[in-house]
Amino acid sequence: MDPQHIDGDLEKVVLSEQEIQSRLAEMAADIQRDYEGKDVLLVGVLKGAVMVMADLSRHLSRHVEIDWMDVSSYGSGTRSSGVVRIIKDLDADISGRHVLVVEDIIDTGLTLSWLVSNLRSRGPASVEICTMLRKPEAAKTDVDVKYVGFDIPNSFVVGYGLDYAERYRNLRVVATLAPHMYS
Ligand code: 5GP
Ligand code: MG
Ligand code: MG
Repeated sequence: MDPQHIDGDLEKVVLSEQEIQSRLAEMAADIQRDYEGKDVLLVGVLKGAVMVMADLSRHLSRHVEIDWMDVSSYGSGTRSSGVVRIIKDLDADISGRHVLVVEDIIDTGLTLSWLVSNLRSRGPASVEICTMLRKPEAAKTDVDVKYVGFDIPNSFVVGYGLDYAERYRNLRVVATLAPHMYS
């Protein structure tokens, strides 16, 4: 969906389709170089990472496998607690494999921190993280993020996989919502 179609809902486009796609091409080139000669399993975290996974993986000119996890973070309101439940686990056995986690956004990093230690406990050859967006607070966690698309300011964004009440995931851009949308 193009941003014009919901013009009144948005406050400001933070990243255009062009900016997103050219950054993904650069990230794919880095990934391709770093994993040369290695087998890679891309692990996407549902649902937000669907767009990043689709576009990033298609910027790669090599074979990769794709798998998905869905996790839910316990906690009230909009803050994640770091206590996580697996809703859908991987289909693949990752022992001895190079795993690259593909994320939409890292805010507190609590969910990701849990996920990385869960994956590490399964004996993979390596676990690295790739995220399209990262917020300032993510710097406080101990998780090392190898590939970052964009560092963005600390405001709530939607689009390109990210939702507000399950809407806006199909926007081609990343944008902030107009204040009247938070009813
Ligand atoms: P955390 O890093 O705090 O554990 O949680 C990351 C998750 O919180 C993301 O996967 C996403 O679902 C949600 N999240 C964090 N910041 C934003 C944001 O600005 N917009 C949207 N739509 N979701 C966000
Ligand atoms: Mg996510
Ligand atoms: Mg959400």
